[in-house]
Amino acid sequence: MDFSLNENQRMIVEMVRDFGEKHIRPKMMEWDESQEFPREVFTKLGELGLMGVLVPQEYGGSGFGYFEYVTAITELSKIDPSIGLSMAAHNSLCTGHTLMFANEEQKKKYIPKLASGEWIGAWGLTEPNTGSDAMRMKCTAKQDGDYWVLNGTKCWITHGISAELAVVIVRTGELLDSHGMTTFLVERGTPGFKAGKKENKLGMRASETAEMIFEDCRVHKDQILGKVGDGFIQAMKILDGGRISIAALSLGIGKGAYEAALKYSKEREQFGQPISNFQGISFKLADMKTRYEAAELLTMRAADLKNRGEKVTTESAMAKLYASEMCVWASNEAVQIHGGYGYTKDFPVEKYYRDSKLCTIGEGTSEIQKVVIAKNILS
Ligand SMILES: Cc1cc2nc3c(=O)[nH]c(=O)nc-3n(C[C@H](O)[C@H](O)[C@H](O)COP(=O)(O)OP(=O)(O)OC[C@H]3O[C@@H](n4cnc5c(N)ncnc54)[C@H](O)[C@@H]3O)c2cc1C
Repeated sequence: MDFSLNENQRMIVEMVRDFGEKHIRPKMMEWDESQEFPREVFTKLGELGLMGVLVPQEYGGSGFGYFEYVTAITELSKIDPSIGLSMAAHNSLCTGHTLMFANEEQKKKYIPKLASGEWIGAWGLTEPNTGSDAMRMKCTAKQDGDYWVLNGTKCWITHGISAELAVVIVRTGELLDSHGMTTFLVERGTPGFKAGKKENKLGMRASETAEMIFEDCRVHKDQILGKVGDGFIQAMKILDGGRISIAALSLGIGKGAYEAALKYSKEREQFGQPISNFQGISFKLADMKTRYEAAELLTMRAADLKNRGEKVTTESAMAKLYASEMCVWASNEAVQIHGGYGYTKDFPVEKYYRDSKLCTIGEGTSEIQKVVIAKNILS
């Protein structure tokens, strides 16, 4: 594997940095404070091709592979992880699921709108009582002629209020039957589909997280994604790719925290010298760089396998597990290196510290990644 950045990746790094400095950094603490979801940023990201990174050009996307995708999320998340999270959820989950399982007519109808950023997407698997144990979901769809009637609540949904299109996995068969769930494409404005409570979060505050409520919501059978009964199996395949994007998000946070801590440690003086001279600080920096690079290797390995079309269940779970734990640990160390100043909003590390925790929870907790890895190595 060649680890140097290809030409596309170099172009993405430059483009995202430039975009971030102009359109994200000046406002990000305001969005964080007021928990505002800056929808207009995603329209602009669409103009740059970042809302359809993996979408083939024939459907209006950038037609890139996973290396470029990881680079885009990492660079964006280094500036503001909540923008990185929303961009990742839109690309990997809603758009990725539609791209992988839609028929030609559905692709033509939805993918160009999603890839251009004209529409933003949501993906609903989690429910109030079923997170890790998604197979026990309670949200149902019952057939009524050419329509299916959806009832239930999905929670913790990224873009649950603002998304124009939701990909929703609901029960259509027996409880605990892995073929008892089906995926539906539900457009905003469909009667019986509404947004619920918006979560007030610790971090990732500019990324909207909310409930989606279905009350006798009638959806035509043409809106089924793939086959009836395939929803859960599809969702697991989508999470294989999605976990690479959470690993990339974690890399952005880890890198941002490391660079901020390195800079501060050279500037801050105590006992008549820069604090980087103290072994207690320099060893922290050495550990941060080492663990960051180990996480990057795992992530790029998973990305490489995904580009080759191979199964990545174990590799993406390992990348997500290691990178997410690394970024929580690294942002904690970065706050420590900043001392009291790290505990304020005057420096970027307190935001990395708050934002990082999502990475060990979303798209499967660290414990669930270990369940996945153990199951695969023991089978
Ligand atoms: C900001 C944010 C955005 C999100 N976006 C989306 C989205 O867009 N779409 C979507 O569908 N979901 C989304 N989620 C939901 C997310 O995927 C779930 O929160 C996650 O899967 C965990 O589920 P839970 O919160 O119900 O925790 P639970 O499943 O209740 O877990 C609680 C604890 O028990 C542990 N645990 C559970 N089972 C086991 C086990 N078998 N072995 C060991 N430990 C176990 C967990 O690791 C965890 O520590 C989002 C969550 C957040 C916080």
